[in-house]
Amino acid sequence: MEFRDLKRQYQYLKTDIDSRIQEVIQQTSFIQGKQVVELEKKLADYVNVKHCVTCANGTDALQLALMTWGIGEGDAVFVPDFTFFSSGEVVSAVNATPIFVDVDSDTYNINCVSLENSIQKVVQEGKLIPKVVMTVDLFGQPADYGKIKEITNRYHMLLLEDAAQGFGGRIGEKKACSFGDISTTSFFPAKPLGCYGDGGAVFTNNDEWADLLRSFRIHGKGDSKYDNIRIGMNSRLDTLQAAVLLAKFPIFCEKELEWEQQIAAQYTEQLNEFVKTPMIKYGFYSSWAQYTIQLSSQVQRDGLKNYLQKQEIPTAIYYQKPMHRQIAFKTNKYEDSDYPVANKLSQTALSLPFHPYMKEEEILRIVNAIKQYLRV
Ligand SMILES: *Cc1c(COP(=O)(O)O)cnc(C)c1O
Repeated sequence: MEFRDLKRQYQYLKTDIDSRIQEVIQQTSFIQGKQVVELEKKLADYVNVKHCVTCANGTDALQLALMTWGIGEGDAVFVPDFTFFSSGEVVSAVNATPIFVDVDSDTYNINCVSLENSIQKVVQEGKLIPKVVMTVDLFGQPADYGKIKEITNRYHMLLLEDAAQGFGGRIGEKKACSFGDISTTSFFPAKPLGCYGDGGAVFTNNDEWADLLRSFRIHGKGDSKYDNIRIGMNSRLDTLQAAVLLAKFPIFCEKELEWEQQIAAQYTEQLNEFVKTPMIKYGFYSSWAQYTIQLSSQVQRDGLKNYLQKQEIPTAIYYQKPMHRQIAFKTNKYEDSDYPVANKLSQTALSLPFHPYMKEEEILRIVNAIKQYLRV
């Protein structure tokens, strides 16, 4: 059994993926070929945002957004404490300061009370200027944008949505990647919409920012790649990756997201009496980047992980270390007691095998193994 079975997806889509890859090779349009433009148009339409600017990966996507806004030294960017390293890394990479914020134990997303408290603290200290709130749509569920936008409006801050795990999710009819002033996603193979290598994209309705993003991603270009008007990066999506994404995208929208809802519902129905299963808020729709349960202690969590491993059921721990405990950020001196929820989740959360091509008997085998371990 695989944690996320990409081979089964390839079998399902093989004809289309193979022919689209062949087409790129025959055209030898490996860099910025027409498939890249076609993909950007499709993704922007789907998300219902004016501009989609693809790039090399989801980390660069976040950094390009911060560069576009001119975020740098002396600026504070508020980031959930429970997320993948990139979300904080890019803030330090542009010389701004990441302020980590505790999360909500039901949704794993940024806690709005803690967010407002830490913004006020930064204002009172007067050393940094609060500029950006970076939300993360963790495990596929959009953050609580109603409340978050009240806060960013109140403090005149920009909102950056890290939807690396959230693409395909929504609140009502409004889709992930449309909530931020700028929003980003990743096409890393294991993400909800994944390519066959690295890839990413940035979304915005703002024309000026879209122009800047297109410049920053290709060496700060002006009229051409050889006319350079600012310091940028080399961060393009390969045409081959765009071709893979074009083959996968229709099935992702039409089928995979729905299959995932059914698989998540089956897991939850079978497990919710015994462990804490994911809570999707009313009116929210998750793209199920992960199906994550919580156990009652670290001993129980680690024990279950080992027990499942012995039965060849792979699981993953997202995340072993909250951001404020990462050595890379040690000079920023965070207070461990400010993060009770993230600390606890790092000890008790366990992500189960999950992908749209899971079979009912596989779900049952996993559920039964969990029940045996818990002796219920
Ligand atoms: C995967 C991920 C990223 C980074 O994406 P890459 O394409 O791997 O660079 C950023 N933020 C979150 C929350 C992620 O899960």
